[in-house]
Amino acid sequence: MADCLFCKIASGAMTSDIVYEDENCVAFRDVNPQAPTHILIIPRRHVGTLNDLGPEDAALVGELTLVAKQIARDEGIADDGYRLVWNCNRGAGQSVFHIHLHLLGGRTFGWPPG
Ligand code: AMP
Repeated sequence: MADCLFCKIASGAMTSDIVYEDENCVAFRDVNPQAPTHILIIPRRHVGTLNDLGPEDAALVGELTLVAKQIARDEGIADDGYRLVWNCNRGAGQSVFHIHLHLLGGRTFGWPPG
């Protein structure tokens, strides 16, 4: 989508600190990190919210999760622990409407989340 920030990052039209990319997804560092490691993993294809996913997207969602797991390992946070977060719609804090999986680590986290 032409006016989507994360589509621009995925296409290279906007610069970002990319840590991983393949044909289906891109991972880059959050500009406003909420933890020492805060990386966003997105599909290249525009999907607005989790509500827009269907059964045909099961492999894509699985890949995003496995990419997050590998990045956690590469960032050295896998053994201490990390958190993966999907925010869906404004009530949950979603501010960019191109789905993204937050990978957070490098500190301890409270539960329940705020
Ligand atoms: P959410 O609130 O779940 O929609 O998360 C959106 C995230 O995108 C926030 O953590 C922002 O800090 C982050 N963000 C916004 N613009 C950029 C950007 N240009 N590059 C990297 N991260 C961004």
